[in-house]
Amino acid sequence: MQLSRFNVHVPLADRNEVFLMNTFSDAQLVASNEVSGLLARIARGDSAFNQEELGTIETLVENGFVVGSREDESAALSKYFQDLREDTEQLRVTVLTTLQCNFACDYCFQGDHGDHNKFAEKMSLETARDVVGWIEKRLDEIRPEKFVLTLFGGEPLLNLPVAYYLAEQCHALCTARGVEPGISLITNGLLLAPEVVNRLVPCGLYGVKITLDGDRDTHNRMRPLRGRQGTFDRIIENVRQVAHLVPITIGGNFDESSVDSYPALLDFLREQEFADKIARVNFKPIIKSFAEAAPKGVIPLTAVGSSGKPLNGTCMTTAGAGALKGSSVCDSCHFADEKMAFLRSETRKRGFPTPDGVHMGPCEIHRRHAYTLGPDGSIYACPGFTGAKTESVGHIDGHEESWQEAAAERFDRLSPRKDECGDCSFIPVCGGGCSVAGHTELGDMYQPSCHKGAFESAVVSLAERTVAAIA
Ligand code: SF4
Ligand code: SF4
Repeated sequence: MQLSRFNVHVPLADRNEVFLMNTFSDAQLVASNEVSGLLARIARGDSAFNQEELGTIETLVENGFVVGSREDESAALSKYFQDLREDTEQLRVTVLTTLQCNFACDYCFQGDHGDHNKFAEKMSLETARDVVGWIEKRLDEIRPEKFVLTLFGGEPLLNLPVAYYLAEQCHALCTARGVEPGISLITNGLLLAPEVVNRLVPCGLYGVKITLDGDRDTHNRMRPLRGRQGTFDRIIENVRQVAHLVPITIGGNFDESSVDSYPALLDFLREQEFADKIARVNFKPIIKSFAEAAPKGVIPLTAVGSSGKPLNGTCMTTAGAGALKGSSVCDSCHFADEKMAFLRSETRKRGFPTPDGVHMGPCEIHRRHAYTLGPDGSIYACPGFTGAKTESVGHIDGHEESWQEAAAERFDRLSPRKDECGDCSFIPVCGGGCSVAGHTELGDMYQPSCHKGAFESAVVSLAERTVAAIA
């Protein structure tokens, strides 16, 4: 009998109690200090327990806090990751309908800067037809219960014919096979008209994520049009028009210059008549190259495109950020960790749902049946590697260049279990962090990109909320 490696303890001040969480079983409980003492005795190897203690131990075993042996637990975790990798319940396909964008955000090169849009790829209807054929084959091969199409870009609504075509055709494929269809849309919100939503909802649109980078003035500074005109009012008006049609998630990218304006944005959102239609609010640090971010202390996660320029913020998951604790990279991240915790707390105060910061991963890259397709039909392991053709692992037409074969092999070897993570308690919910960050910051996607401090503070916050809910 041993303690699980994945136990996390948060002493509860003034309560003579402790919040216990197991990140593998996801069990959470508020226990007396006697239970902590019992766990300490088990850790020491004691084996003489009275009847009452044995009853408590049984409960701790049932909830995963006490395990038969660390070896068995390690094998169970490996099986969990393997099952997650091979999971066929869902087929998830993210399609970049275009790399063009109608915004000119300074922090993103995929925008309306210079002649970017002139040369940026846009999916043709012919390629979209091939994409549908490719998805059909995957549906028949994998036989999932659910299919999720994510429309992404660039700005996906700049290629509406392809967005509609993919949505309608995929919906038909799913209906014919009894598969539950779902569509999510990640857009800057400028073209989010009711007509668009009304056309996509019957195809399974279940959520739209838009981005607001702070309060009105800050957002207008951060996310302007090419001529520096602001976009805040138009986006808010669009949200007002569609919020009753589809759940809206608000995202936002902050840096040191904008983070303090987010409480005002949250106040503004709370006052809107559509406030209760907001399904989730989740702000993330702007992703910059390490060299660029270091002076400011912004999280240095960079997805690099084939041009060598950062793709910035390509990942849509919330796990995509980090650096190994104690490394030079991690040392620059405390600003973001603290601010993330601050913004989550401000978000909750205003009654908006937001991620708890604990249940963050493993991310899509560790699922075999989660694909990202570029506008030309190239296949990528995850959204963070799009744009870097050398990181594509194949093409929907089935032909595979030798370098793509090599890339596929590289991604196949990626594991959410990394030796460097040792006996970290957060492995089940972290999976070694973002592989794109490992690739770009550390030059090795197999290296963990760690945000352990963020996990630790998120557990403390979870404990506080749990205690408040009990009270
Ligand atoms: S590896 Fe990073 S960029 Fe890719 S899906 Fe995971 S968190 Fe996102
Ligand atoms: S599992 Fe995550 S939090 Fe833990 S050491 Fe590895 S990267 Fe850091």
